[in-house]
Amino acid sequence: MKRATLYLHIPYCKQACHYCDFHFSTVRSTENEVVERMLGELAEGQSSWSEFEFSSLYFGGGTPSILAPELLERFITQASTLYNLREDAEITLEVNPDDITPEQLAEWYRIGINRLSVGLQSFDDGELAMMNRAHHARHSLQCLQWISESPFENYTVDLIYGIPDSTVESWKEQLHTLASFRPPHLSCYALTVEEKTVLHHQVKTGEVSLPTDDIIVKQFEALCQWANDHGYAHYELSNFAQPGMQSRHNSHYWTGAPYLGIGPGAHSFDSTSRWWNISNNALYAKCANPTEELLSSQDILNERLMVRLRTAAGFCWENDFPDELGRAVRFVLEREVARAVVKGELVTKETGFAIPTERWMESDRIIAQLFLY
Ligand code: SF4
Repeated sequence: MKRATLYLHIPYCKQACHYCDFHFSTVRSTENEVVERMLGELAEGQSSWSEFEFSSLYFGGGTPSILAPELLERFITQASTLYNLREDAEITLEVNPDDITPEQLAEWYRIGINRLSVGLQSFDDGELAMMNRAHHARHSLQCLQWISESPFENYTVDLIYGIPDSTVESWKEQLHTLASFRPPHLSCYALTVEEKTVLHHQVKTGEVSLPTDDIIVKQFEALCQWANDHGYAHYELSNFAQPGMQSRHNSHYWTGAPYLGIGPGAHSFDSTSRWWNISNNALYAKCANPTEELLSSQDILNERLMVRLRTAAGFCWENDFPDELGRAVRFVLEREVARAVVKGELVTKETGFAIPTERWMESDRIIAQLFLY
């Protein structure tokens, strides 16, 4: 049976973080209609995905933890009734620290959630306020304590580095605080300035200034060293796991395998086409007609290069090079790979090639050189 993964986008948040360009709304007046439409979309997709086995279900957003557990349970029941969702499926809920209480944790666990993704971002009140996060440093500490006392053994923590006014030392402080909780999995992202965000305006007007590239690189290096010292495998550019705790859901994306996305703004991919829903809650609730794009085998190769080369495993000629592409194309790519190897930007492996970990911060540039146009 072919493998796939299921993503449910819950498009509501308490307040807008200044750096965020995901699809969400702070107005929840459309919630009932959107939930019903999402349940309908799940039902409509059943026949097209009947040959797939789903190894994971992921509630992302937005902030899915603001949804009532009964609604989350309806989605899980609907998905496991209509789809071949494995009995041991990884079922992840993105949660914000201020939504976590011992009672909520017990409820989430009871309805079948078996992994949490905690949008912690920082242990520093000044940084959290600068990003306009809805929680405070005390929530960051308290929620990790409560999770450690709950039945959840599998969870991941998100942290952000490269925050305005942060230094290498202040970032090391963050990691030092995290060390006492030793989460099974960690995702760390450099703060990026996306257009049309408040952060973009603040940077443009000089209201805030980002750390220099040199500081950001040193923060990344400090992170890699800390993770190594604390027993984490650095298995993807931004992701670190204790042994056996890699994210099944995200690892699936990084193989370039099919996925089904449900909800406003959600994307899907079935190996040949990609389609996405409108990023507007009211319009989505009325009709979930997606926009579709047929992908050429060249597009698919470029996407695989993009995701595979951010992983420690790297690109595998046998699994990742599309069958439809001929020898001539492979020859061109092999030549580019050989050039990059000479420059130290790639290393060859038994089955393919990868970017050496110390060059991962340059991965966008290195990968772009390999794209076929
Ligand atoms: S909570 Fe997450 S999705 Fe919502 S605004 Fe903040 S970063 Fe964006």
